[in-house]
Amino acid sequence: MPTARILRGSPRNLALLARRLRAGELVAVPTETVYGLAANALDAAACRKIYAAKGRPSRDPLIVHIHALAQLAEVAVPNDAARRLARKFWPGPLTLILPKQPAVPAVVSAGLPSVAVRMPSHRLFRRLLRLAGVPLAAPSANPFGYVSPTTAEHVHAGLGRKIRHILDGGPCRIGLESTIVDVRNPRAPRLLRPGAITRAELERALGCKVRTGRRRAAPRAQLAPGQLARHYSPRTPVILHTSLAPRAAAHGPADEAWVFLARPVGVAGKNICWLDARGRLDGVARRLFHVLRTLDARGYRRIHVELARGGGLADAINDRLRRAAAR
Ligand code: AMP
Ligand code: MG
Repeated sequence: MPTARILRGSPRNLALLARRLRAGELVAVPTETVYGLAANALDAAACRKIYAAKGRPSRDPLIVHIHALAQLAEVAVPNDAARRLARKFWPGPLTLILPKQPAVPAVVSAGLPSVAVRMPSHRLFRRLLRLAGVPLAAPSANPFGYVSPTTAEHVHAGLGRKIRHILDGGPCRIGLESTIVDVRNPRAPRLLRPGAITRAELERALGCKVRTGRRRAAPRAQLAPGQLARHYSPRTPVILHTSLAPRAAAHGPADEAWVFLARPVGVAGKNICWLDARGRLDGVARRLFHVLRTLDARGYRRIHVELARGGGLADAINDRLRRAAAR
C-alpha cells in the first residue's frame, strides 16, 4: 500500500473522506483528545480493519463517536445519569459505557453487551461525522501499546503504511484520551479511565460518589495479566519521580533525558526539557505525548519524568505516566 496522505479539512476533502468511510475504509481523524482511527461503527468488516491496522487484540473494545444526541439511542440504551452527563459535558472528552443496541456489531464492543459512546467537540471531526451520516468507531490511531498520537505526523509515523487517509486538524487541544465512566448502573457510576473531565466534575453533575472501576477487555479475553496496564509506552524505559531537582539533571549522565513539569531554573541541555513553561496542567497534558515520542526517537537510555501534583487533570496525567513506565 502507498503511504497515507495527510489531508487538510477542506470541504472537498471532507466529502471525499466521508465517502471513503461509507465505503468501509479507515480514516485517521483529529479529535480534541488524541487522533483516532475511524471506521463506520455499523459495519463489522470495516471495524475489523481497525484491529488489523493497529495490531490491537480483538478483545479490546472501541469507542463509538456520534455527532448528535439523537444518535445516542441508535447505538446505546441511555438512562437518566447518561442523559445528564451528556447534556453537561457533550460535545467533549467524556465517554459513557451503556448497554449496547443490537445495531452495533460485536466486533466494536469486543463481544461485550456494553458499548462506549462519545460526542467529540473537534470541529473537523464533527463535520466528518455529519457528512458520513453514520456513527464512527475509533480507538487511538497508534500501533497497539504505543504512545497515543496528538498530531497528524504522529499518526503518519506509526500507521502511515497501514492506512490511506489522515485528516489533519492540527495538534490536539487536550492531548490525553477521554475520561471513561460506566453509567450502566445510574446509582453507582464507575470511573474507568481518568481524563480531562474530572471525577469531581462528574460527582457534581450526578450528585453522587463516582468510584473507581476496572477497565476490562472482553471476559473470556483476559490477555496476559497486566496487559492493559502497560499501554501508552515508549520503547525507552520511563522512570517516574514525585519531584525532580534541576541539579539531578545537571549532574546526570548525558544519555538520559529529564522531563520537568515547568521550565527548570539554571539548567539547560538537549536532554533537559519541560512540559509547560509555567507547569500549567493543561499545557502539560497537551505536550506530554509529543515530548515522550520525541525523546523516544532520540534513543536515550532512560527518560526521567516528574509526576504532576494535585487532583483533577493531574490524576489523568499521572495515570498515563504510570502506564508509560509499566514494564
Ligand atoms: P482507546 O480509544 O484506544 O483508548 O480505546 C478505547 C478504550 O475504551 C478501550 O481500551 C477500553 O478501555 C474502553 N472501552 C471501550 N468499550 C468499552 C466497554 N464496553 N466497556 C468498558 N470499557 C470500554
Ligand atoms: Mg489507545
